[in-house]
Amino acid sequence: MFGLRKTLGSLFKSSKTDEAWFDTLEESLIQSDVGLPTTQQLMSKLRKAAKSEKASSSEELQALMIDEVGELLKALEPSPNPLFESKQINIPEVWLVVGVNGAGKTTTIGKLCRLFQSQDKSVLLAAGDTFRAAARNQLQEWGSRNHVDVITQEGGDAAAVAHDAIHSAISRKSDILIIDTAGRLATQDHLMEELKKVKRVIGKALPGAPHHTLLILDGNTGQNGLSQVRAFHTALGLTGIIVTKLDGTAKGGVICALAHTLQEGSKPAILALGKGEGIDDLAPFTAKQYSSELFN
Ligand code: GDP
Repeated sequence: MFGLRKTLGSLFKSSKTDEAWFDTLEESLIQSDVGLPTTQQLMSKLRKAAKSEKASSSEELQALMIDEVGELLKALEPSPNPLFESKQINIPEVWLVVGVNGAGKTTTIGKLCRLFQSQDKSVLLAAGDTFRAAARNQLQEWGSRNHVDVITQEGGDAAAVAHDAIHSAISRKSDILIIDTAGRLATQDHLMEELKKVKRVIGKALPGAPHHTLLILDGNTGQNGLSQVRAFHTALGLTGIIVTKLDGTAKGGVICALAHTLQEGSKPAILALGKGEGIDDLAPFTAKQYSSELFN
């Protein structure tokens, strides 16, 4: 259950929608990481609707909120979703996966393996985080759980692992190659330079690849999450985002803030949501459903 839902559950059942009601709503939106600009935009629409008596009861305001947020989030909805509904064009289809340590990158790669296998696709993994032995081991664990090979190199560099993995995927005729990357280096600039190099090497080894550059984002990181998205998108041109940890007591509002942050220019779509630590806890993202989950 989202944190937001707990507060709003009672708020949207209230019989009175006075100024105090609007203030509480505004406060819960901000506390749930919806972000100030989006909150102000939503509150202004709701207040206007209440004034003109277009929507005055809490139920009507709830329905309006779900519609408004659903519209806002539509900009982040993929169509078609390359994880769940697209036809595979490239073999191997290369997924470069980036994100800071702890965001849930390795866990999500495990989930992606399972998802692609359930679509009868063969998968190969590459351990591109050559800085942390623990990351490599964790990826190998997910690999063996899914009966998937993992390309690694003792002490090699990430670009070399990626290069190797592309050639292995081509010679094995793997449908999918997922390349894990480092989530932390000495500085953010250093990390971005490393990732750009990995991306360049992938493109040289297989023109057109990576076909997807996917950011794994912890759904509970608030404003910090937004700057992560900006930094990765500027450096790498993200094509998709998976937001993790949207289960338990997640605040859930960061996705609304994301829609606002990414309003201009090319937007990476949200492909899926991580809803638990288990291998099947991955759900497609749809704007309407997310909005109604957030406010019901
Ligand atoms: P990495 O450092 O980015 O590779 O992150 P990990 O995959 O190791 O995940 C960090 C922690 O977050 C682990 O304890 C995972 O079990 C947990 N985690 C990952 N995804 C989710 C999720 O969707 N929901 C929850 N509740 N926990 C998650």
